[in-house]
Amino acid sequence: MVEGFGQAPYRLRQLLDGLYRQRWSGLEQFTTLPSSFRHQLTEAGYVVGLPQVEKKFASSDGTVRYLLGFSDGQSVETVWMPEGDGGEIGDGSEAGDELETVTHPERVVSWHRSTICVSSQVGCAVNCKFCFTALLGVKRNLEAGEIVGQIAAVLRDQGVDPPLQRVNIVFMGMGEPFLNYDNFMKSVRLLVEGVRIPESRMTVSTAGIVPRIRDFGQEAVRPKLAISLNASNDALRSEVMPLNRKWNLAELMKAAREFPLRARERLTFEYVLLAGVNDAAEQAREVVELVRGIRAKINLIALNPGTELSYRTPEQERVLAFQRILVAAGIPTFVRRPRGRDIFAACGQLKRTVDVAPTSP
Ligand code: SAH
Repeated sequence: MVEGFGQAPYRLRQLLDGLYRQRWSGLEQFTTLPSSFRHQLTEAGYVVGLPQVEKKFASSDGTVRYLLGFSDGQSVETVWMPEGDGGEIGDGSEAGDELETVTHPERVVSWHRSTICVSSQVGCAVNCKFCFTALLGVKRNLEAGEIVGQIAAVLRDQGVDPPLQRVNIVFMGMGEPFLNYDNFMKSVRLLVEGVRIPESRMTVSTAGIVPRIRDFGQEAVRPKLAISLNASNDALRSEVMPLNRKWNLAELMKAAREFPLRARERLTFEYVLLAGVNDAAEQAREVVELVRGIRAKINLIALNPGTELSYRTPEQERVLAFQRILVAAGIPTFVRRPRGRDIFAACGQLKRTVDVAPTSP
């Protein structure tokens, strides 16, 4: 991009440093750049700045939900989870090496491992029946800079600096990242080069946009992949995720099976448990059959409830029984710890709830 302005390639490094490491808020602060170049950027319509922290909600478990506003008045939610594993335990990647903390407990205290859950769209178009973001519909895609901007804004607010402090990124906030694919991938590259968060500490979750799963497998630099499975057969999946009528389980699992995993990498499947709908032993056995032959791990998420939904959260015993069947079949299966339910920050709860007490920004 800088070459287009007749600038040497190292100017890009300086630009990214100013944006994402110094987190400067106006082009005039970029004194490392020649003023002629700054002028050119202004002329070309470039503006510098982070999204505005409009509201901030702190959970009793340390999770913070941010409502971040952009210059056009739209806003999204971004969630900070201190000491969070982002659900990535057991996926064979760096982000999941809590397994190691068990064998080296003394190292735990010195680790700063936090997770930021970032949004990719304002609202969502996918319409999953158990997700609150679906209620918003989709307003627009986020630009790559707006995706990275959420992370920079939260890091600034928390006073955290990668790579000195470890940060995991999960693209699991509002929106379907694979319906904003190019901007999502551009944000990944900016995060790697500009914010210095390695892609091995990032995970993207998709509801199952099959053609983009295939594209994603071909990317040279890519986060890990999680697929929202959420049901064990087509009838059930089409009911809770109408998107299944477009790409059914046969197509989805074929793409999953053909997905080129790296050494030690596992493909994650998320499975939201809905009481009496998809949480029976029989359905766990169907899941075992579905993922057979895939180097997979499964994250079970007990439904995070809310008043607008007709589904209920299963009892813990039911969740554990489901998990036992998968584990007995040799599939690493983890029950995701809900984070920030009390402030509507947990999975599927991002719908810009503001009628809970905010923390002063
Ligand atoms: N659009 C992407 C990423 C956002 S959703 C996707 O669908 O994967 C992130 C995860 O939260 C998904 O696995 C989704 O199935 C889950 N989820 C959605 N609503 C939920 C709810 N009410 N309770 C628990 N998990 C939920």
